[in-house]
Amino acid sequence: MASAFGHVMVAYAMGKSLSIPFHTARFWWFTMACCLLPDVDVLGLAFGIPYEHMLGHRGLTHSIVFAMLVGLVVPRWATPTLAFGTRPYWVMALYFFLVTLSHGFLDALTNGGLGIAFFAPFDSTRYFFPLRPVAVSPIGLSAFLSQEGMGVLLSELVWIGIPIGFWLLWLGVGRRKGTNGVQ
Ligand SMILES: [Zn+2]
Repeated sequence: MASAFGHVMVAYAMGKSLSIPFHTARFWWFTMACCLLPDVDVLGLAFGIPYEHMLGHRGLTHSIVFAMLVGLVVPRWATPTLAFGTRPYWVMALYFFLVTLSHGFLDALTNGGLGIAFFAPFDSTRYFFPLRPVAVSPIGLSAFLSQEGMGVLLSELVWIGIPIGFWLLWLGVGRRKGTNGVQ
């Protein structure tokens, strides 16, 4: 995994990119939950499910199909004022799909562990992107608080934090001028 900080930074930037009237606390809570949800699979390690198994770490919960299911159901709770099946509902479904999928994309940029089973449950092949500049985050809080954990944060600051900072700055400037932002 990338660290929780990395996933949350990406999801925050995605949420900020939407020009919508739904930037409620509820919207943000669900955004954060969706970007972290795929790592629920680490619980499987405690139950003896091997990392490389389809249900193991970076398996099914990191797949495109899982993100689609999340995107389909989450707007009902995240933006309950939207009627199911309306255009704004589908915009939100697409948004939560992409936020959930961003988790696997970020993991596929990390330099350790196994790849991501993007096409599970149909294909259990694990994939990385050709470029993997982000240092992989250790599993578990104690490991994270080590020197290795600090290295991960530094790597994420460079490869995720700085580009996102520029993106948010550009969004802010553009919005003031009224020239950009997803409508
Ligand atoms: Zn992950």
